Amino acid sequence: MILSVAEQTKQIMVGDVPVGGGAPVSIQTMAKAPPDQVDRIVEQLKDAKKAGCDIARIAIPNLEAVKTIGEIKQRSGLPIVADIHFDYRLAVAAARNGADGLRVNPGNLGGRDALKAVVTAAAEADIPIRVGVNAGSLPKTQGMPAIPTADAMVNTALKMIADIESIGFDKLKVSLKAFDLFTTVEANRRFTIQADWPLHLGVTEAGPSLSGTVRSAAALGILLAEGIGDTIRISLSSDPAEEVRVARYLLRTLNLRPGPVVVSCPTCGRTDSQVVGLATKIESTLELLNLDLVVAVMGCEVNGPGEAREADLGVAFGPQGQGLLFESGQIVGKYANEELHDVLLARLKEIKEEIQHE
Ligand code: SF4
Repeated sequence: MILSVAEQTKQIMVGDVPVGGGAPVSIQTMAKAPPDQVDRIVEQLKDAKKAGCDIARIAIPNLEAVKTIGEIKQRSGLPIVADIHFDYRLAVAAARNGADGLRVNPGNLGGRDALKAVVTAAAEADIPIRVGVNAGSLPKTQGMPAIPTADAMVNTALKMIADIESIGFDKLKVSLKAFDLFTTVEANRRFTIQADWPLHLGVTEAGPSLSGTVRSAAALGILLAEGIGDTIRISLSSDPAEEVRVARYLLRTLNLRPGPVVVSCPTCGRTDSQVVGLATKIESTLELLNLDLVVAVMGCEVNGPGEAREADLGVAFGPQGQGLLFESGQIVGKYANEELHDVLLARLKEIKEEIQHE
């Protein structure tokens, strides 16, 4: 059961995307090209948007990068969060130059006056600030444990929030990230009990595509299934669009966002059909056609329509060269196995046209 803790968080706006307060969990990614390569950044973010991205973040390491915010925002069509470390002047400049949000670590901006300048600029621009606490960069103050704990992360976040609130600003979201899955989960759980700021979920330096996907899905899956988390980023050593696709499948799997699903059997000795190739092709076709359907591709009739009863549409390859097409659990046609690929694709296109004419 999905709990609804997220409904209890406050809501902020990042550009035109609501975050928290019961809004759909939004998907974020970060551009990976160098800041002076605006065309590459824009291409990456356009691909990410096509894949389902809601909010993009870009690194702002210098004043030249600040000047690109408006163009990247306009050409990518995504709200842009400026990611800033150490130099508060860059955060002030980003707020004044079109950023839809700031991601800062208030502990490394250079003291209270610097923080006040950033908060004032964000208030004037009416944009939110993400307070980002990473386990690897907790302040080295007295009483901090040598190994970062969930409690140390939560206490750091609460202290940073109190500092910002004391300046009179409350458009905040918070992230508590660690490489260790259990530390990330526990920090976010504990924070949720103590505060109602919207939470940005992620696992830092999650890893290359496969291992990073598994690590992120495990950590974020636990939290999202408990109703914790308002916006997510899957950090992978891969393209931004790949991060977004993983995030979308995660949210789809948890019934938190609509989207296409391909149900395909793992295949076994009962089939020599091309299940893997067809399933992969159907997955990309559903994305391309933007069809939120459940489509099954099964290797044989043993578990075909039965196992995939929940599917809107599906095929099961057959033993004597004859396979089945089925819709909503009902067999609607018999075709030669080699025809199933074309039959299924044609039916998907028909459904798309039917939807367009409704
Ligand atoms: S559906 Fe048929 S081919 Fe696929 S795994 Fe099950 S028994 Fe094997």
